[in-house]
Parts: sequence; C-alpha cells; structure tokens
Amino acid sequence: MKTEVAVIGGGPAGLVSAIALALAGVETVLIAPRPEDDHRTTALLAGSVTALATLGAWDACMSHAAPLAFIRIVDDTRRLVRAPEVVFAAAEIGLEAFGYNIENRHLIAALYERAAQLNISHLPGPALAVANSPAGVSIEIAESNVHARLAVGADGQRSLCRAAAGINTARRAYPQTALTLNLTHARPHENTSTEFHTESGPFTLVPLPGRRSSLVCVLGPARAAELFATEDKELAVVLERRAHSLLGKMQVEAGCGLFPLAVETARCFARDRIALVGEAAHVVPPIGAQGLNLGLRDAATLAEIVADARRQGIDVGSTGVLASYDTQRRADVTSRRITIDLLNRSLLTDFLPVQAVRGLSFFLLDRIGPLRRALLREGVAPAASQPRLMRGEML
Ligand SMILES: Cc1cc2nc3c(=O)[nH]c(=O)nc-3n(C[C@H](O)[C@H](O)[C@H](O)COP(=O)(O)OP(=O)(O)OC[C@H]3O[C@@H](n4cnc5c(N)ncnc54)[C@H](O)[C@@H]3O)c2cc1C
Repeated sequence: MKTEVAVIGGGPAGLVSAIALALAGVETVLIAPRPEDDHRTTALLAGSVTALATLGAWDACMSHAAPLAFIRIVDDTRRLVRAPEVVFAAAEIGLEAFGYNIENRHLIAALYERAAQLNISHLPGPALAVANSPAGVSIEIAESNVHARLAVGADGQRSLCRAAAGINTARRAYPQTALTLNLTHARPHENTSTEFHTESGPFTLVPLPGRRSSLVCVLGPARAAELFATEDKELAVVLERRAHSLLGKMQVEAGCGLFPLAVETARCFARDRIALVGEAAHVVPPIGAQGLNLGLRDAATLAEIVADARRQGIDVGSTGVLASYDTQRRADVTSRRITIDLLNRSLLTDFLPVQAVRGLSFFLLDRIGPLRRALLREGVAPAASQPRLMRGEML
C-alpha cells in the first residue's frame, strides 16, 4: 500500500495527527492497534479543546467532560517554610474554563469515531518494523507493507519509529509513582481542580461530570504499590483523609493504575522521513496537566507544516519540512519540561533555601495580578507556539 503519510500509534496524539492531516487533504493511513482501556483522565487546556472543536471531535466529548473553572494549589507539606494557598479563576483571563477534564477512554472513542467519519484508512495492527531510506519509509505490518513519504511516530514512550530514525533520548527517572483512579464523592467539586503539594509529590483531584473526580496521587514507589493493593473501602478512607475531607466521603471506582514517573525528551523530534509526536517525543510528569496538551500541539504543528508543504508542491517528508517541525516544537517542549521538573524537584527536596524560593514564588503569584495573569495565559496557551488549529483556524 502506498500513501503520503502513515501515522503509527492510535493514542490521542496519533489520532489527532491522522484527523488533522486527513482534513487538510493529505492521504493518510493510520496503523494502530486499538488502545487498551485507559481509566486515566486528561485535563485538556483551552487551546486543545479549540483544536478538537475545529477538527469536529469535541461535540462527542462534551457530555463526558467537566469544566475546570478554578485551580487551587495547597502546600500540604509539613515543612518549616510553606507556600500560601493560591486559587486561580479562569475568569481572571477572560475564560469560562481553563480547560476540560475527560476520561481518556471517552476522548479516544470520540477520536476514533471522527476518524471513521472521515474514512481514514485504519490498519488495526501494530507496526512490526519501520525502515527509512531517502526515497520513503516502509512500515511492515502483518502480511503486508505500507510505503509512505512521511511516517508520524505517535507510538508512545517505547517508540519503534524513534528507534528506526536512530534518535536517542535524555531520560531521568524520578523516585515517584503516580497512583491513578476515579472517585465518586459526597460533596460537589464546584468545577475546581485541587492540587495538594506533598513531600512525595502532588495529590491532585480533577473534576469529572457530576459528583465524580479523577485522582493523580504521586508517591514513593513502595507506598504507591501498597495503596494499589489496598481494598477499595479502606483506600477510600485513606484518600479522604489525604484530601482533608474536601469532597466528603469517597468511593473508589474500578480501574486503578500505577505509572512510574520520568522525564524524557528525544534529542531530535524529526529526522530521515520520521516525525515524532506525543510521548514518542517527550514525557513529563503529570504536574500542571501539560503532557498531552504538548502532544496535541505537536500533532497540530506537524499537520500545519505538512499541509503548507503540500500546497507548495514540496515533498512532505523532506529534510526542510522535518527541520521546520523540530525547530517549531523545541522551545515549547523545553520550557515546559524545565518548569515541571523544577516544580517537582522543589517538592522532593528538604533544602530550606529551595523551599523559601518556592514559598516566595507562590506568595508573589498570589499577590501580583499581572504576573499571575501572564502565567495563567502562558500555562493555558503559550504565546509563541500556538498552531492554527489551537486558534480555531483550519489548516
Ligand atoms: C498519571 C498521568 C496523568 C496524566 N494527566 C494528564 C493531563 O491531565 N493532561 C495532559 O495533557 N496530559 C496528561 N498526562 C500525559 C498523557 O497521558 C500523555 O501525554 C498521553 O497519553 C500520550 O499520548 P500519546 O498518544 O502520545 O501516547 P499513548 O497514549 O501512549 O499512545 C501510543 C499508542 O501507540 C501504540 N503503539 C505502540 N507501539 C506501536 C506500534 N509498533 N505500532 C502501532 N501502534 C503502536 C500504543 O498501542 C498506543 O495506543 C498524564 C500522564 C499520566 C501518567
């Protein structure tokens, strides 16, 4: 089979890439085994929601998503220097919501539905091997091969495409594991996401529709495994205590997950007819809901560059196209990685001066309106790297 672009991987970054490319008129094949059930949720920030709406996929998500109108950060450490509690309102920057939280299984189902409406060729098996040459990329799947001018590697953290392009990564594992689960609770969440900063990492409750929330609880690996093995009723009591009964009595839903945390960045995002998007390109810990939002900006940026190249009659897998993608994504990914890493490490350290700087930063954020609004705007939608889809424009 011959195609212009083959997208490898059917997580959200791959699906958004395939949909955006197809809508831009690019011949696209999606090579993707159906993803396993993922009970995690994603807080999609405003730009990502706009992009999904522009691609025609948001309507199917809306009834499953809860708005994030407020973000509260509470220093729950027992250290000598503690940061003040800070509450941010989306209305401060003229938005109804910073974004929406949705279960990944609903997001993925909506994206598959949209891909089917657009008649995107979907080969529902894994890529077994990827081989690139100056003429194109050949992807081996069960019993056949796909030849493309460009392969989009959306195949996650252990990316086969990244290996095929010979791209190394810089990786550092943290001594932390995220325990993830969804909860029902007695009190309403008032569309407020609450992040308790503890000595082991954040404990974050993010609203879902109704009296439900998702939880990302970052702990040392042993304690996370212990809680993972704890019976649901007992676990609910432990979690309610950690949440200071903010949402009242809790009930744990089925589908608990454990995710060891690391930060990992590909040394190059595109080379030799292969472009990486999503976690194939970068992994960050779940602090400040940046991971997939970065991944969707990758997908939107790449689709934009490919669509422009095609209009000008340029080979969509050429060195110039790939270099442009690498350059356009580097600053956004690097700045988020550094910020998240610093914030996470400032929680883990007992070093007093670091605690003091952290406390002062939150104090200033709480008090200085322009600083606060600038940070909120940058967190939701980076000024320098908003691709057209994130601004509500078609490719
Ligand atoms: C606890 C936790 C909470 C998070 N919360 C948020 C949040 O609130 N907001 C946010 O923006 N981000 C969040 N993230 C990050 C977000 O989950 C990831 O960025 C996102 O899932 C990555 O999507 P992806 O499509 O790049 O990769 P994946 O979802 O990993 O998809 C990769 C796909 O590729 C497929 N694949 C692998 N190998 C092959 C192959 N050889 N051939 C074909 N297909 C292949 C896999 O089956 C998989 O379906 C969170 C992460 C964690 C761990």
